[in-house]
Amino acid sequence: MSTGEQQGAEGAGAVLHVLGSGSAKAVGNRANASYLIEGREGLSLIDCSGSPAHQILRRGLDLADLRRVFLTHSHTDHVYAMPSLVHSLWMAGLFRDGPLNVHGPAEALTVARSLLAVFGLEERNITLAWNPLGPGQNVLDLPDSPVTGSFPVTHAGLDAVGYRVSATVFSGDAVCDRQLEAAVDDTVRALVVDCGGGTRGNAGHAGARDIAALVRERPSLAEVHLTHIGFPPAEEGSVLAEFGGTGRAVRILEDGDRLVLP
Ligand SMILES: [Zn+2]
Ligand SMILES: [Zn+2]
Repeated sequence: MSTGEQQGAEGAGAVLHVLGSGSAKAVGNRANASYLIEGREGLSLIDCSGSPAHQILRRGLDLADLRRVFLTHSHTDHVYAMPSLVHSLWMAGLFRDGPLNVHGPAEALTVARSLLAVFGLEERNITLAWNPLGPGQNVLDLPDSPVTGSFPVTHAGLDAVGYRVSATVFSGDAVCDRQLEAAVDDTVRALVVDCGGGTRGNAGHAGARDIAALVRERPSLAEVHLTHIGFPPAEEGSVLAEFGGTGRAVRILEDGDRLVLP
């Protein structure tokens, strides 16, 4: 059992595999941010860093089941593995039964396509469907997708979004402001949230203090999973202490964690 495995009703919800719980800063124990969602509809990635095809295979899952990639924004640490992923799928002889759908803000898709162009990957026998989010940043009503919605977030002046999977909200890279608060409505049970700003937050990333304030206002929120961790281990105690008295399950995600999402 991985350190973060939660006992839940298997099959009741999609499974989150944490491929990377780190920030853009290189550290030995955390890869850049990336998440694999295993649902009835197949596999989806939220952000694309590290070695995604390898990460799928090492979990005993099938590359052919990867249906969709959801990008949160155009920063390097969230997009750079797109060429590796597409090349790996092509080497595996995939793309015969339908396209790999890529969703995200138009800005992020432009960066991803530019990366593929460097290697001439789109010219090969590869079918990709590029799906820029509209002005409302909304991907509701996708057929066969565990991701059921998206919403704008505030991050470094970029066109950045978070995603919703059932009753779970993924903030993406975001500060904890009114935009994120609006996405965490009373139906949200779990939050996978950028805590890259440590205890107090910073210009681009939420901090534990602000996240804890949001948690206190949302009694229906049962689980809080902190990610995009860029602060040193010595700060973990003070980060978690901010959630004292909330009565919620709060933890710092680690690479390899496997959670059943509500
Ligand atoms: Zn990032
Ligand atoms: Zn970012």
